[in-house]
Amino acid sequence: MNTVQNYLPEHLWGEEITIEGGVIHYISAINTNPADPFDIDAIKQIFIDYGYGATELIDRDGTIIQLMPENRKAAHAGRSRMLGRDWCNGWTTGTEILSVHGKPYKGLPAYTDDQIEACIELYVDRCMRHNFSPRWIRGHDQVRKEWNQAHPKDKRARKRDPGKHFPWEYFKQQVNMRAEWI
Ligand SMILES: [Zn+2]
Repeated sequence: MNTVQNYLPEHLWGEEITIEGGVIHYISAINTNPADPFDIDAIKQIFIDYGYGATELIDRDGTIIQLMPENRKAAHAGRSRMLGRDWCNGWTTGTEILSVHGKPYKGLPAYTDDQIEACIELYVDRCMRHNFSPRWIRGHDQVRKEWNQAHPKDKRARKRDPGKHFPWEYFKQQVNMRAEWI
């Protein structure tokens, strides 16, 4: 697992949280920097401009770019609900995988094998250190859908990340298999 620190400004780090799950997203700078949608500075600028955050980015080569200490609350999921539990930002990490809309782009795959491997290794380590099961790792699309179903009077826009190209079955099988449960 190749990890580097490239932190967002501290005003985007929230309070300290206890990590009990993870939410998977995609992001790119396709709108603000179409010549290079995977440019890290351009992507960081999106977070800064919108006041959002994430725990980490997974670059196309699988490098994990830490955006803040993992136990700080990041503004990544908004209104969200996972397996009956609301407001995921307060108890999950937010993992942004670099991808243009989660779809193949200019002959490149939606997600590279290196990204999926990095995401597996990241969550094997995190599940073991924080003692949560991979069932508590879900997509932004899933946690927003569950929120909207549970809160029909407070619906928010549908989310599409990470989308159908993220290999959930393989991902969960690998995390389950590699994590050594105590
Ligand atoms: Zn998202």
